[in-house]
Amino acid sequence: MKDHLETAPVIDAVRSHDLCPFCRLREMIEQQTVERYLGGAVMEPDIRIRTNAVGFCRTHHQLLMAQKDYHGYALMMQTRLKTVADQLAPAVKGFSAPGLLSFKNMSALQRQLNDAAGRCLICENMADTVGRYMDIFMKLYREDEGFRQDFANGPGVCLRDLPLLLQKCQTQLTPSQRRDFLKTVSNQLTGTGATAQEDLDALCSSFHYGSEHKNNPRINEALERAVNFLRGKTF
Ligand SMILES: [Zn+2]
Ligand SMILES: [Zn+2]
Repeated sequence: MKDHLETAPVIDAVRSHDLCPFCRLREMIEQQTVERYLGGAVMEPDIRIRTNAVGFCRTHHQLLMAQKDYHGYALMMQTRLKTVADQLAPAVKGFSAPGLLSFKNMSALQRQLNDAAGRCLICENMADTVGRYMDIFMKLYREDEGFRQDFANGPGVCLRDLPLLLQKCQTQLTPSQRRDFLKTVSNQLTGTGATAQEDLDALCSSFHYGSEHKNNPRINEALERAVNFLRGKTF
């Protein structure tokens, strides 16, 4: 049962065939994490310790705000703000006594500020979970011919997710499985890249007066598809 719960999202994402499977999984994890943090987890001490310590990036603050659970969000930010203020207080005190603000203190403060504004619990959680899903992907790829076929029939993996997947295939597939996997990935990259290029070419031509591409269905979301291929799901 546990095995099925872990493999089902990966199988579904690979079978969806309209997007990089790991971008699809990342979107799912992102939504689940945001809902969880604003739900009962706001009151769970271990989660509060983590949200207080790490905080969120701008994109995820926007997503948290968009959920419109202002009470849960405010509670979370109330203790996050206090944690950051407490962490910075010793170094900030040095500002009012310039003689005490040594180069060492200044470096420590810069590090603390970078930490306070540079980390995101949701981004870190998504990266960990996508990594685990890639391990499950490799297990399915080793053991299930149907899964290999489903993957080969899809659009493949975006350029954002490909480096880690390639790293994992080095250690988790046998040499012959790896050859098969890399051949599939190479075909997908060539095919998806070429299609995205042709669609974008058509879109650019469609802006010209009297263009034959004005009603070409391939121009719809051509820009979104190209960016999503290059950077992972963005639109
Ligand atoms: Zn991706
Ligand atoms: Zn984030």
